[in-house]
Amino acid sequence: MEVDAAGARRAVVNGPCATCGEEVEYVYQTETIPYFSDILIVSASCPVCGYRYTNTQILQESEPVRFTFPVVSPDDLLVRVVRSMSAVLRIPELGVEIAPGPACEGFVTNVEGVLDRILSVVEGVLVWAEGTERERAEILKQEIGGVKEGDFPVTLIIEDPTGNSAIVSDRASRESFVLDEV
Ligand SMILES: [Zn+2]
Repeated sequence: MEVDAAGARRAVVNGPCATCGEEVEYVYQTETIPYFSDILIVSASCPVCGYRYTNTQILQESEPVRFTFPVVSPDDLLVRVVRSMSAVLRIPELGVEIAPGPACEGFVTNVEGVLDRILSVVEGVLVWAEGTERERAEILKQEIGGVKEGDFPVTLIIEDPTGNSAIVSDRASRESFVLDEV
């Protein structure tokens, strides 16, 4: 384990690519987030088949947790978002829900990064969609633009039964939730 000046630790472990079996480097690194426990980020990318893997884990005993954050101004785009593979991410005002699934990666990003991920899906839909589906995607694209400008307030909600996700802002509310209620 290497330790850098900021206290982050990093280790590289070789292992087989989950898709093609080629030996790739799995990078384990910790990142310290103010007012929050350290997180572990595990990432790998295969130069042969292009397989990419990222997951995050918060290094503490964790209960199911729900974070709710009002996105009301362009400054809010910079707020850090940690989402593990087991979390559901929702923006009710946009009708967006990203559920855990096999194709779903964990990530560490900010609010803008979350919006950009949704936008890239919407742009993918616009390539082929017609009729009402196309209209809906175009409206969503405009709304995401409005969120970025601070003209369209939304609520970002992350629910994680493993407690390994977070929205890092003192304006984010954090509450535990009971799994049965969802
Ligand atoms: Zn591979």
